[in-house]
Order: sequence, then C-alpha cells, then structure tokens
Amino acid sequence: MSQPLPLEARLRARIAAEGPIPIADYMAEANAHYYATRDPFGVEGDFTTAPEISQMFGELIGVWFADLWQRAGEPKAARYVEFGPGRGTLAEDALRAMRGAGLSPPVELIETSPALRLAQAERVPARWHDSLATVPEGGPLLVVANEFFDALPIRQFEGDRELLVGYDGRFARDGTVETETSPASLAIVGDLARRLLAQGGAALIVDYGHDRPGTGDTLQAVSDHAYADPFQAPGEQDLSAHVDFHALGLAARAAGLRVFGPAAQGVWLNAMGIKLRAASLAKAAPERAADILAARVRLTAPDQMGRLFKAMALVAPGWPEPAGF
Ligand code: SAH
Repeated sequence: MSQPLPLEARLRARIAAEGPIPIADYMAEANAHYYATRDPFGVEGDFTTAPEISQMFGELIGVWFADLWQRAGEPKAARYVEFGPGRGTLAEDALRAMRGAGLSPPVELIETSPALRLAQAERVPARWHDSLATVPEGGPLLVVANEFFDALPIRQFEGDRELLVGYDGRFARDGTVETETSPASLAIVGDLARRLLAQGGAALIVDYGHDRPGTGDTLQAVSDHAYADPFQAPGEQDLSAHVDFHALGLAARAAGLRVFGPAAQGVWLNAMGIKLRAASLAKAAPERAADILAARVRLTAPDQMGRLFKAMALVAPGWPEPAGF
C-alpha cells in the first residue's frame, strides 16, 4: 500500500480515536494544510482568481476605496486591511490606484499561510495578522476580501442533524446535505462590524455565492483547474463553498452596518468603469489589446465570472454611500 499523505493520516487517526468529525473540521484542516504548503494560483496552480486575471480588478477596488475616502473627508489615519490576500496582487494594484488619488495607507494583511505571506511580502510592504484582533484600533478601516469567505469552513445539515465525515477505506459524508451554515464567516462579519462601528470605514466582500438563503450541497474541490471529489486527498486540493451573502448581510445589518448589494461582479465592475480602464490600458499597449479585452470579458460576462461572483459593501454609519451599487 502507498503511504497516506500527512494530513490524510492525521485525519484518519483522529476519526479512529474520536469517531466521525463535522464537515467544518474536515474543511478547516484541509484548507489550512492546502494553503500553508503551496501557492495555488494561476496556470501552473489549481485555480485563477480575478486579481490574477487582470490588474483592472485591483485597480478598480483601489479607485472605489479612494473615492469613498475622499468623500469621507480624507481621514489621515485610514488603514488598508485585506483578508486572504493570496499572492498580494490585488493589494499591489489597489494601493497603486489609491496612491494616484493621494491615499497611501498603512497595510495590514490577514493571512494564515506562511507560504503566501512570503509571496505577499514580495509585492507589498505590510504587517501580517492571523485575524482582525491584532489590527490597530486607531483610524478608519478600508477592508477588502476577495475569494476569502468561500474558503472558510461550512457546517452541513440534514434536517437538524449535522453531517459528519467518517473513514471506511475512504473519507465519506454520512447523509444528504439539505442546508449549510458558516459560523466562521458570521464570526468574522461580527468582528468586522464591531471594528467598523468603532473606527469608521467600509468593507468590500467579493466572492462567488448566492444572495437568497441557500439550499443543498455547495462544497466543492478544485484541483488543476478542474472539479474534484472533496472527500479525496484532503489538504491537496482547494475546498470552497458558495458564500451565503444573504446571511452575511443580515448579520452585518443586525450589528449596525449599512449593507449595499450584493451586486453581480460584472454589473459592479461595469459601474466602476472597467470599459474605460480597459480602453486606456489597450491604448497604452496596443500589442496587448486582445488580452485586455479577453480579461475584461472573463471578469464581467454573465456566463463567465460576471454573475456568479458578487460584490457586497458593509459601510460604517456616517460614511458616504459607496460607488457601484
Ligand atoms: N484574495 C486572493 C486569494 C484567495 S484564496 C485572490 O483573490 O487571489 C484564499 C486566501 O485566504 C489565501 O490567501 C489563504 O491562505 C487565505 N486564508 C484561508 N483561510 C484563512 C483564514 N482562516 N485566515 C486567514 N487567511 C485565510
């Protein structure tokens, strides 16, 4: 028999000792191992994200923050905070666009993967955090999270019964998924709300998911740009689930924030002026015009990333209405 992979062996030992474990524990362990041990992005990796497709994505997010900050009266002490910054590409592009508008905030990156912290350090001078708890209390927060919430663990239920993962020659779930919740996501929205209420600012959440209360199984695995079985090779492929924007929005509102969207990513990027930005990039580099157009279409077309991906803004009371919604 071949040697089990290190995480697989640990999960099997835990299940042998304790019995089947919640889906959320399986997903949390698998993703912690996955992100800690590789850079998963791009053609060579397992999947590609919007900031890796085009600089336009991060730039328009930077423009969005700069516009909000200007209309809030240009508070000096504002900070840029990003959850799960991946390679740091979005931060680099957003900060460049923000500098163009006179905004150069200190950068606080919330990232648990040592491998990805190294990649981010090559692109942006920053301070790193395991969670929002250590991000400084002073000054308004300009917070962004792209494809972060989809990686957080979900719980799955059949009726009231929580589904578990056991091992019997292979990992398997013990029932049919009827509903999902993500307490880890709701906890982060709660923390964010407390900080935005105390310090001012806004958060932009971009991810794939639904804006109606969801039903059914959305847990998926991606490996080498193709869907895979989430119960195979834990820790060696990316696990994610649809983000329940409805639930996140309700939690944010209940905590006192104003919620805008979710808007379809394509609608939001068009409202933010992606066509103009694409035209000006193409004019500056005519030999890249076809690639720039292809990237814009991939980010905005409803049958590509334009509809399934959504943008939602959480805004502190007293801050201006955000653009694009
Ligand atoms: N935003 C990037 C990367 C998305 S992948 C992009 O769009 O390209 C998910 C990111 O979240 C990775 O950087 C991963 O290491 C990080 N991550 C996953 N779970 C995390 C957690 N619980 N706390 C902090 N970061 C986490």
